[in-house]
Amino acid sequence: MSSESVLRIVWVYPDLLSTYGDRGNMLILTRRGELRGIDVRCDEVRSDQRVPDEGDIYLLAGGEDAPQTLAAERLLADGGLRRAVDRGAVVFAVCAGYQLVGESFAARDREYAGLDLFDLRSDRGASRAVGELAGTVDAELGLPTLTGFENHGGRTRLGPGVRPLATVAVGVGNDGHTEGAWTTGLLGTYAHGPALSRNPALADLLLRWATGREDLEPLDDIWHERLRAERLNAIGVT
Ligand code: GLN
Repeated sequence: MSSESVLRIVWVYPDLLSTYGDRGNMLILTRRGELRGIDVRCDEVRSDQRVPDEGDIYLLAGGEDAPQTLAAERLLADGGLRRAVDRGAVVFAVCAGYQLVGESFAARDREYAGLDLFDLRSDRGASRAVGELAGTVDAELGLPTLTGFENHGGRTRLGPGVRPLATVAVGVGNDGHTEGAWTTGLLGTYAHGPALSRNPALADLLLRWATGREDLEPLDDIWHERLRAERLNAIGVT
């Protein structure tokens, strides 16, 4: 966290990358930080602006192919996100944003260079993956079942530098078997919903990584839990 003890959240390119309620991820993170007495500052950085490299948590959300390729081009030229990650900033990347932080991704029938921040690459699947997504989260993270909504044409292959975030119970995720990726400082997922509203434990993990605080007090999550139960029940996951 920055020296003046403000947690700085940077939402990267909301003008290009924001689908299925992804803005909610910023709202949930901010609220859960503030309820723990953390001073939070949010910056929404449009694609014609410089990406600051002094943020603590960077959010990259979903997007259709054309805005996704434009975002890749501008982020590569900007270099701010690369500098932030090299400094140890935390990244939460959803769908197009998840594909973007890898080495390469496919869109509009060709391959594009990604930001190459994390050890993963994406190409095109035979069909679009659309619908509810649920999976058992990597035991090392000790989090409840992941739940979300997915809509993507890409499929993602993980290298040894990251681990799958979850094993798929319903839906497709990376490849029908695993979903998302993580390594300390990165959470990548195909889950929209918004993901941090449907999985508040993921929001708290990001806050712990960014603040170094292991003592975040529990919150009243009754509404999140009702939403989770309703969605998981609808797809038969217990
Ligand atoms: N354009 C990407 C794909 O279809 C990501 C889609 C999304 O972010 N929902 O795979």
